[in-house]
Amino acid sequence: MGDVVRLRKKHPCGGFDWEIVRLGGDIGLRCLTCDRRVILERPVLRRRMKQFVSRGEALSSEVERALYGLDDGAPPEGEAPGSGET
Ligand SMILES: [Zn+2]
Repeated sequence: MGDVVRLRKKHPCGGFDWEIVRLGGDIGLRCLTCDRRVILERPVLRRRMKQFVSRGEALSSEVERALYGLDDGAPPEGEAPGSGET
């Protein structure tokens, strides 16, 4: 897929840039500096992500959707469950 993200936290090898190698419930990343792979949960990656790199372009919609869950049943805004009245 070739999308690259930059994380806030430096990898022990000194690298910041990661290629997205797997999408799913968790996101697989490969460190571009040392070639090591890690798996991060989507919320964790979202928090750690500093910016998209991806050769100056936006991430592919496939990656964005996987990360931000645009179509995976986000709850409607405003309505907190359990706050209903009888
Ligand atoms: Zn590394």
